Amino acid sequence: MPGDPPLTLLDLADMGVDRLAGVGAVKLESLRSVGIESLLDLLTWYPRRYLDRTRQASVAELTSGEQGLVLCRVDGVTSRRTKQRRTMVTAELSDPTGSLRATFFNQPWRSRQLEQLRDDGVEVAVFGRVELYRGRRQMTNPVVDPVGDRTGRIIPIYPQSETARLSTWEFAEWTAQVLRRASSRGFADPLPDEVRTRLGLVPRGVALADIHHPADLHVVRAARDRLVFDELLRIQLVLVRHQRELAHNSSGIAHRVGREDAPVPGLVAGFLDGLPYDLTAAQRRVVDEILTDLVAPVPMHRLLQGDVGAGKTVVALAAMLAAVEGGHQAALMAPTEVLAEQHAEGMRALLAGATRRDETSLLGEQPVEVALLTGRTPAASRRRILEGLRTGGIPLVVGTHALIADGVEFDSLGVVVVDEQHRFGVEQRAALRVASPDDAVPDVLVMTATPIPRTAAMTVYGDLDLSVLDELPPGRTPIATSWVRGDQGADEAWEAVREEVAAGNRAYVVCPLVEDSPKLEAASAEATHERLATGPLAGLDVGLLHGRMAADAKHEVVESFRRGVVQVLVATTVVEVGVDVPEATVMVVLDADRFGIAQLHQLRGRVGRGTAASRCLLVTGGDPGPEATSRLEALVRTQDGFELAEVDLDLRGEGTVMGDRQRGRSDLRLASLRRDRDWVVRAREVAGELVDDRGHVAVGGLAEELRLLDPDDEAFLTKS
Ligand code: ADP
Ligand code: MG
Repeated sequence: MPGDPPLTLLDLADMGVDRLAGVGAVKLESLRSVGIESLLDLLTWYPRRYLDRTRQASVAELTSGEQGLVLCRVDGVTSRRTKQRRTMVTAELSDPTGSLRATFFNQPWRSRQLEQLRDDGVEVAVFGRVELYRGRRQMTNPVVDPVGDRTGRIIPIYPQSETARLSTWEFAEWTAQVLRRASSRGFADPLPDEVRTRLGLVPRGVALADIHHPADLHVVRAARDRLVFDELLRIQLVLVRHQRELAHNSSGIAHRVGREDAPVPGLVAGFLDGLPYDLTAAQRRVVDEILTDLVAPVPMHRLLQGDVGAGKTVVALAAMLAAVEGGHQAALMAPTEVLAEQHAEGMRALLAGATRRDETSLLGEQPVEVALLTGRTPAASRRRILEGLRTGGIPLVVGTHALIADGVEFDSLGVVVVDEQHRFGVEQRAALRVASPDDAVPDVLVMTATPIPRTAAMTVYGDLDLSVLDELPPGRTPIATSWVRGDQGADEAWEAVREEVAAGNRAYVVCPLVEDSPKLEAASAEATHERLATGPLAGLDVGLLHGRMAADAKHEVVESFRRGVVQVLVATTVVEVGVDVPEATVMVVLDADRFGIAQLHQLRGRVGRGTAASRCLLVTGGDPGPEATSRLEALVRTQDGFELAEVDLDLRGEGTVMGDRQRGRSDLRLASLRRDRDWVVRAREVAGELVDDRGHVAVGGLAEELRLLDPDDEAFLTKS
C-alpha cells in the first residue's frame, strides 16, 4: 500500500516466501530445504554470475584454450561408459553461429537433465574452457545453467540446487516479483546519508534491484559494494558494541604497576631490566600497549599475535608480573600438557635469570613461584597448589584445562593469558574468569602464533584489541626450506637427517596427514616409523609420537628427544604445537601437499629455535596440482608468517584461515574477507563512529537490523 513506510530488512524477514505467486507447497518445501523461508532469505540468495545477451560470445567466437560463456540449445544427448568404466555424457549444443560439444564425466544424472532441456527447447548458459578435439569445439565438464526462454538483456544466474529442483529462472522470477511488489513502498535505508555519500555507496533499494536485475553489468559492482558493506558493517557494529559495552559495564582492575605503593614495587621493571637481552622494538611496543591496558580500570581484551619465535613468552610474563606487582595473581592456560610444561619451565628460567642478575631486587629476596597444574599433577601437589591459589600464596600458575576444573579458586586473579593456538573456545576463557571471586573482571590476553591477516583478525577477533609482534629477535638463522619430489626427493631428506644427526643435532619427520581420523593417522605414523627405522633411517634412534598414545608415553618420548636419546622423532601434527627442542635442526614433512600453509609454517617453526642453521624439507609424491604448488612455493619463498597468512587467504579464501571462529560467520553471504579487505576496514571505522561510549548503536534502524545476525555467531564473542 502506498503510504506504508519503506520496507526494512526486518519486515522482509517477517514475510514468508509463500506469498509469492508461483510458490506452492512443493516449491515452499524445496526453498525451505536450501534455507530460504522469508523474502529476506530470497533477496540475499544472490546471483553468482550474469549473462549479457548482447555481449555474449557466440559459439563461432569461442577461442580454444580459453574460458568462454555461451548461450546454446541442446540438440542431442548420448551416454556411454568409457573403458575405465566411467560414465560419459555427451551433449551436442548449438547457437545460430555454430556447434559445440560438451562432455561430462562421472555425472550420470546429466543425461536426464540435458534430455529434459532438449525436449523443453530452452536455452542454457554453458561456461567452460574450450578445446579443439578432432577439429571440433568441445568443453569438458562445463558449468551448465538452464536460463529458460526469457527476455531481457542481462540474465542473473543463481546458485541452483539439483536436489531441491530449483532453477535459476525460478529464482530470477521470484526476486523480480519481490522487487516489483516492493516498489511502491521502497526499501528503507538506515545508513546515514552522510556516511553513504562519503563512501560513495548507492542506496540499499538500488543495490537490491541492481544485484538481482541489473540493467547493465556496470551497476553490479556498485550494488555489490553496498551490500558487502552492509554485511560487514553489521558484524562490526556488533563487535564494537560488545567491546564498548564491556568497557562501560564491567569494572576491571586498575593494576598498580610502576607505583611506589604497590605490594611488590618495581617487579616488572626489574624483570625487564634483568633480561639477558634487549627487547625488540615490537616487544617494547606491545608491552607498553598491555601495561597501558592493565593500569586502566577497564578490563583488557587483547589479542597478541606473533609469529613462531617472536618472543611472546616474555611479553606474557611481563603482563602476568604486572598483576603480581599490584598484589594479584596471574594464570596462563595452554592447550596441551606439553605446552603448559614448556611455558612453566620457560617462565621459571626467565624469572631465575632476572633474580641472579639483580641481587637487590625483590625477586632476589622473594622468588616468584610458577606453579604448574595439569592433568598429570600428582594429587598431593595439586592439593598444595589449589590451596596456594585460594590463599594467594601462589602468584603465578600455568596449566591446561585443569585450571578451570571444579575446585580451582583464586584469591585474586588479575591477569589471564590464554595461549590459544586456535584450540580454546570462548567458553573456557569465560570459565577461567568466573574462577575469580572478585567482582572485578581479570584482564585477558589471548596469544596466537598463527598470524591472521589484519582484516580477517578485525572480523574474527574483532571484539579484541590487537597487538602484533611483527619482528623476530635478532640473530635468528633463517631456515633453508626446499621442496623435494618423488623417491629421489625423499632420499635427499633422509640424507639431510643423517647428516644433521651425525653432527649431533636432531630431526623431526612429520607423517602424512589423515584428515578427520586420528586412528588412521596414528596407524600411518606407526607404519612410517616402522618403515623408516628399518629402512632409510636404520641405525638411528627413531622415536614415535602421535595423538593416540597415552599421556605418559608421549611425555617420555618428548623427553627422550629433548635429551637426545631419541635422535629422530617421527610424529603426526601433534608436534605442531609447542614442542620446543633447540637442538632439532631438520624438519621433514612427508606428503607436504596435504597440509595447509599455516600448518606447514607451524611445523617448520619447530626447527630454527637454536643457534645452528636449520632446514626444512617438504616432500611430495608427484605433481600436487596448482593450489598445493602455490602453497609449497610460498613456504619456500618466505618465512614471514604474516605474508604466508595473506597468501593463504588469497588461495583458499576465508573459509579455512580462521578455523572454528570462521564457521561462526554465516552472515557473510556476499562479502569476502579476501576480496573486500578495504571494506572491512571502512566498516570498522564507520562502526566506531556509530556506536557510543556506552555501547549503544546510535542509529535506530541499524541497531534493529543487528537482530538479524545469527545468534550462534555471537557465541564466538568473548563473554564477559
Ligand atoms: P614465541 O612464544 O613467540 O614462539 P618465545 O617466547 O618462545 O617465542 O621466544 C623464542 C626464543 O626467543 C626464546 O628462546 C627466547 O628466549 C628468545 N627471545 C625472546 N625475546 C628475545 C629478544 N628480545 N632477544 C633475543 N632473544 C629473545
Ligand atoms: Mg612460545
